Amino acid sequence: MVVFNRFKDGKPAALTFSYDDAPEEDKRLVEILNTYGMKGTFHINAGTLGNPGKCTPEEIKTLYEGHEISCHGYKHLHLPELSNMNVAMEFMQDRKVLEPLTGRLLRGCSYAFGQYNAQIIQILKNCGMEYARTVQSTKAFSLPEDFMQWHPTCHHNDCLEMADRFLQIMQTPWKGIKLFYVWGHAYEFQRYGDKWHIIEEFCKKMCNLPYVWYATNIEIKEYVDALRALKVSLDNKQVYNPTATDVWVSADGKTVKIPKGETVCL
Ligand SMILES: [Zn+2]
Repeated sequence: MVVFNRFKDGKPAALTFSYDDAPEEDKRLVEILNTYGMKGTFHINAGTLGNPGKCTPEEIKTLYEGHEISCHGYKHLHLPELSNMNVAMEFMQDRKVLEPLTGRLLRGCSYAFGQYNAQIIQILKNCGMEYARTVQSTKAFSLPEDFMQWHPTCHHNDCLEMADRFLQIMQTPWKGIKLFYVWGHAYEFQRYGDKWHIIEEFCKKMCNLPYVWYATNIEIKEYVDALRALKVSLDNKQVYNPTATDVWVSADGKTVKIPKGETVCL
């Protein structure tokens, strides 16, 4: 039986981070993530860059190298209180400013204040958003059913406890693909008393695990899309990968690579 339970390079688990608002504290956070080989996504409000306590447009050109930059609404407005056009403008203006500034293509977002509804999801899709993170912690390690309502595992305040649970689960025989998703704001490590030890300790616990893929939000989204797009023959002997992403699956207990554009006979 072909089972879709492997991430990149056949790893059974992935870890990703998601941080909002581009506060100055992102500089220290990026340094910590880089020290431990972690990858994250930074959701930015282009219209507030350079305000007191925020990174400047000049700084973000290079600060997030090796990580993903995504949208968070140009002015960080409450989306349900806006007209459809103004919801779209929040995201189009983010892209209009940040794409030329950083030379990146922005494909995802997180909801300002965690607020959204079905109409907003549709508008964001029309603005080219492929995923959107909420603020509802699942306290679980599952893949999202709907990437436009991507509920994280936990806020960083709970990440140490969840790390212990994760490490314990991974010591038992694999029970399916596991995604560990931590979110927060870097200023929370600074402004409510010194809490930097939380993220330092978490990264120390979670770094260099051979079974974990350290990835940005969009890398995970793109990989899972490719995994879900695989075509499997009725007898489970052939798997076709119609996408441009290499993927890995389990077949009768073995990990098998299904290269992009190829059919593999098992
Ligand atoms: Zn925010």
